Amino acid sequence: MLVVSPIMSAAKMNTGRLNNLILARSAVDRASELRTDTIKLEELWQSAKVLIIVNDQVSSHDSELIFFTSAEISGEGERYFLGIDQGSSQSYFAWHTTEHDEDQLRTLRQIGAQLSSLEAGLAVHAIALSNWHSAHPRCPKCGEATQVDLGGAARLCTQDQSQHHPRTDPAVIVLIKDVNDRILLGHQPIWPEKRFSTFAGFVEPGESFEQCVVREVEEESGVKVHSVHYLGSQPWPFPASIMIAFEAITSDVSTARADGVEITEIRWFTRDEMKDAVASQEVLLPPRISVARRMIEHWYGSEIDTGESWRP
Ligand SMILES: [Zn+2]
Repeated sequence: MLVVSPIMSAAKMNTGRLNNLILARSAVDRASELRTDTIKLEELWQSAKVLIIVNDQVSSHDSELIFFTSAEISGEGERYFLGIDQGSSQSYFAWHTTEHDEDQLRTLRQIGAQLSSLEAGLAVHAIALSNWHSAHPRCPKCGEATQVDLGGAARLCTQDQSQHHPRTDPAVIVLIKDVNDRILLGHQPIWPEKRFSTFAGFVEPGESFEQCVVREVEEESGVKVHSVHYLGSQPWPFPASIMIAFEAITSDVSTARADGVEITEIRWFTRDEMKDAVASQEVLLPPRISVARRMIEHWYGSEIDTGESWRP
């Protein structure tokens, strides 16, 4: 019979999904059925609350978004319909432009954790959409200019009328465990010194999430994993990803090694080792906004109190 410590058995009971991921919150109905109704969208625009987007920044104070009325919007830009709050019937749009008062602009990294669910959902949608529109001014088929279509949910080629839809790049992120419930974390050379996190990589064409988990983990850490278990997902619009979180087990820790390129150091942790390493600041964890941090805390059994670290 397996003997487990009290903290381990508490964590074992908590093997469900990751809930309330900071950037996966949302409270607005995207009302996609209205995207083809240009008359209705124009009507909604008249009474809309509008977020201004410039590059990867959204109109915001330090802890809440700044909304404008459509009457306050002028100049060059593109308008994207974000949806309707069913409770208040309030409609929301993004206005994607090139200039705005710098004091009123923040990135999602700066403010994501402080926003309400309604605001977080709107900001993530608006920034992810704007990132895609910025990168797709021309038709991939013929090279001619494209224009906004479907209220901002697509672009249309002005030459051949082909319609192009936003792209989101799936990346798996994996918490590797051994049979004794230790976890394996790695350090990437582009990260701040001492920062350790879970392993991640983009899904390749023709590959399932589960196949990607096995391939990426073996490439980066040398271990073969099985028992791949889905934990949750979070949009990560930096600029166009979604992180799909899994945990997986390895039965053979002897092959563990860093690949030396993407990962330069790996380290196993028991919960006690994690606690000590964080307390002594020998190890820095990824920021609270990341799914990686939540995966580590999910295993640990509680939030881990530590300073934030973020790639400069
Ligand atoms: Zn075209």
